[in-house]
Amino acid sequence: MATVSYIKVIVPLRLEWEPLYSYEYDGISSFPLAEGTRVTVPVASRTYVAVVSCADAGEEALKVGLDRIRPILGIAQGLEPVTMQEIALWRRVASYYLCTVGEVYKAAYPVSKVTQEETRARVTALRKSRLEKEKARLESELEKLRMRLSAKETALSRARKDSVKVSLDEARGRLLAKIGSHEEELSRVLSALSRPDEGGEELNRLSPVLSELSEAQMKALNEVRELMSSGKPVLLHGVTGSGKTEIYLRLAAECLRSGRSVLYLVPEIALSRQLEERVRAAIGPSLLVFHSAESQLSRYETAEAMRGGSYLVLGTRSAIFLPHRNLGLIVIDEEHDTSYKQDSPAPRYNARETAVMLGMVHSSRIILGSATPSLESLYNCKVGRFGYVSLKQRYFGALPSDVEVIDTIAERRKRGMVGLFSRKLISLIGDCLARKRQVLLLRERRSFAPAVQCCECGEIVRCRRCNVPLSLHHRADGTAKLVCHYCGRVYEYAGTCSSCGGTLIPLGSGTQKVEEEASALFPGARIARLDGDTAKDRKYATEVIRGFSKGDIDILIGTQIVAKGFDFSGLELVAVIGADSILGQEDYRADEKSLQLLEQLRGRCGRRSQKGLFVIQTSQPSHPVYRTLEGEMNHEEMADGLLGERKLFGYPPYSRVVGIIVKDSNARRADLMAAELVSALRCSGMTSAIKLVGPYSPSVDKVSGQNIRCARILLPKDRDLTANKEVILQTVNNFEKERKYLGHISLDVDPV
Ligand code: ADP
Ligand code: ZN
Repeated sequence: MATVSYIKVIVPLRLEWEPLYSYEYDGISSFPLAEGTRVTVPVASRTYVAVVSCADAGEEALKVGLDRIRPILGIAQGLEPVTMQEIALWRRVASYYLCTVGEVYKAAYPVSKVTQEETRARVTALRKSRLEKEKARLESELEKLRMRLSAKETALSRARKDSVKVSLDEARGRLLAKIGSHEEELSRVLSALSRPDEGGEELNRLSPVLSELSEAQMKALNEVRELMSSGKPVLLHGVTGSGKTEIYLRLAAECLRSGRSVLYLVPEIALSRQLEERVRAAIGPSLLVFHSAESQLSRYETAEAMRGGSYLVLGTRSAIFLPHRNLGLIVIDEEHDTSYKQDSPAPRYNARETAVMLGMVHSSRIILGSATPSLESLYNCKVGRFGYVSLKQRYFGALPSDVEVIDTIAERRKRGMVGLFSRKLISLIGDCLARKRQVLLLRERRSFAPAVQCCECGEIVRCRRCNVPLSLHHRADGTAKLVCHYCGRVYEYAGTCSSCGGTLIPLGSGTQKVEEEASALFPGARIARLDGDTAKDRKYATEVIRGFSKGDIDILIGTQIVAKGFDFSGLELVAVIGADSILGQEDYRADEKSLQLLEQLRGRCGRRSQKGLFVIQTSQPSHPVYRTLEGEMNHEEMADGLLGERKLFGYPPYSRVVGIIVKDSNARRADLMAAELVSALRCSGMTSAIKLVGPYSPSVDKVSGQNIRCARILLPKDRDLTANKEVILQTVNNFEKERKYLGHISLDVDPV
């Protein structure tokens, strides 16, 4: 007798499909389908690859009604089943970020047409290239070690004094042991290379190449271990250069040795080659590098390679959604960084919070690190949710750089400004270059000028699709273009106003302008620029970074891209040109964010043993952010002050914010719908003392032809929080349905 089985599935769509519809298949002709199996199903008139979320939905299916049961089309061939842990994570993410499980599934498994054979072939190739890199590294290392050994042997044969002989002999013994373990490593790599399509065996370092930790690092590591053993995530608060990375690597190596895997999250990867090399050196070929810019295929390759044993994935936020197995440790480097937040599309998740959810699903240990922790994490430490460990000392013992704040208004009055540079800064740069040291200049805006204005009619040229001024960019061939930094549209630049024919003049200054002025001021210096425009070319970016760290570039000019995680030993002077544009964000997080950026930049100079200088050119020299940097206020005070303010106004982390965004091509309809949605929310029966702000137009109120209106709901963190979030979601869903306004409204939990 044929039996029909009923299942529930997750489809990669925003539709709330899972609770409403069921699917059936013939129980005799197929195996019983396990949860996690990927099946093809019809939805409306299209076919999707879905995930079985409930294998035995018999009763529930019948309750929903026979008209809501469809047959599946089949099992999706060649696709690995999804694990229960992945589904558990998706559910947590969906419920926290107020989206559907389908949206999270879609983000985790982007559609791909790659066949299984292609994937296998690519995985083998990938594995081979990793092994080859490792082979080359080991061989060159061995060569160096053997040279050192022969030098020691020569010295030993010539040595007279017994004490010298003894110490030389000991050194020789250590070298021999090292050579032995390298040879062993190499032979394992060679044997794996002879059958690259097999995989599976452990390729982790037998003896990871780790540095000896300093006393301060050792103490911090022990504190971290102890706190971790209680199951809490641990925040490691350590100044730049204190050696946090060495601590992560040690924990990672331990974890791999115990047979479990590691996820090492970084905010951005394109420019973090230095880190990649350090991790590779420490843990060997089980390193997998993954980031969202990689092609589709690469996601499959990574997922495939992850099945070959324990691994370390070094990746950006989307690496969270890889099919992790037996995850023992999660490292969240630079945890304060806002690139961890995905703005769009849903799920609008923050990798920091999501990684903690992932850790709970896998019972993994979690370490978050930063020189300038987010207030959210500091708050979590205060309330006992996270453990807190601080590492105050720099590894090379250098003192924190001196900070010099230059008041540009006062300087201008004294005729102390030459264009964008103060005379003081010019002479500091000159000194630095004369000593063959390097300079980093930060300007927050890319382009030549962030706006152009007609000098006759005063009009500022704006993007036709976005309500924002256009930036002026110079091309290499000497011509110029206007670019919209919101939608990317490019306009030809004729230099004249389209409405009155008057001459257009640039307003303000961007990185290109800084570059132009710097070239004129320091004609002998080798100058390079790294901003959103030039970094698009990854090869160029890598070259610039390498050139700067080798000392082939004297002055590097860039946007905050350059603040992220580099270690340049020759860098002595870092200066911020026009720092006010960093402070000038109308947002309650502005101070926190600027302090983080500036502190990071300051950490870039004077690494190793010498002291650096950090110069800030600003028209608001007495701003508390600068005073904190100058040391008139310490960080704990600043953080406490900021937390106090947040508490007073009921801002996060003392409340949870849900942002509401309405987008519409018609401005009046956007106004109307936003206003009606807000009134619907006001009478939606949320329980506690919520605060609702809006609707309002954000400072950029039109992007790509879409008018934007916003509202914000501040929810107290009390026991009604989850219920209140649910009310918001339901109200928005009902509103969309009743008003036939699908696709215009989005919710953003914890907006940044
Ligand atoms: P952080 O991650 O806190 O910014 P890093 O781990 O990058 O600090 O360390 C800063 C510098 O000090 C790096 O060049 C690193 O190689 C070096 N360093 C840190 N700890 C050690 C150690 N125990 N032995 C040798 N070098 C170290
Ligand atoms: Zn635009």
